[in-house]
Amino acid sequence: MKMILNDLLNLFFPRLCLLCQTPLVEGEAHICLHCIRQLPYTHFTALKTNPVCLLFQEKVPFVAATAWLHFKQGGSGQKLIHSLKYHGNKQLGHELGRMAALAYQTSGLFDTVDLLLPVPLHPKRQRERGYNQSEWIARGIQSVTGTAIDTTSLSRIKKTESQTHKQLSERSENVEGIFRLNHVDALKDKHIILIDDVITTGSTLRACAQALQEVPGIRISFFGISTAL
Ligand SMILES: [Zn+2]
Repeated sequence: MKMILNDLLNLFFPRLCLLCQTPLVEGEAHICLHCIRQLPYTHFTALKTNPVCLLFQEKVPFVAATAWLHFKQGGSGQKLIHSLKYHGNKQLGHELGRMAALAYQTSGLFDTVDLLLPVPLHPKRQRERGYNQSEWIARGIQSVTGTAIDTTSLSRIKKTESQTHKQLSERSENVEGIFRLNHVDALKDKHIILIDDVITTGSTLRACAQALQEVPGIRISFFGISTAL
């Protein structure tokens, strides 16, 4: 019965690919297989020597850093991130996280990670949006790796402008001291990976890492679904 209903719904309201608008077929979610093959993959599989690492080297200690897709104005990476952040499409975050975790399986990126830590939104912004997009990405990663998600140890105490809406030249290091560490115990001696939707200058992730520095024995990695680099 459920299948018949789904078939009828698809007949009258076909689910469309977010990128090319063709109707999705059974087994496809949000993006058709053709568009998945064409996504702007970074191929940053070297976890310690890629352009994302340069944002953190000699600034904060870290284990690994990488991002999965290129984020370019008008590109499909940007379309997906905008759907995720500004059009209420949180399930897309789950799907992107799931696909990214599968793509990084052979690299071993998530193998030694104890906790997934989505970059927190300011509580006011999270109320406006209704969800934290990075948390939905983390849930998708978790569906592949089984790694626990931590949404309480770190919080955002200052609201800053959305970095993705600003021009590169306007983006500033206005994120010092915007995160607060709430408790140390859950993170002690753990390898955590900070999860973000777009890595641009790395300033937000560095601010997170700085707030986490007081945790004894912590090791930190960085993962972006996309990067403007
Ligand atoms: Zn498509």
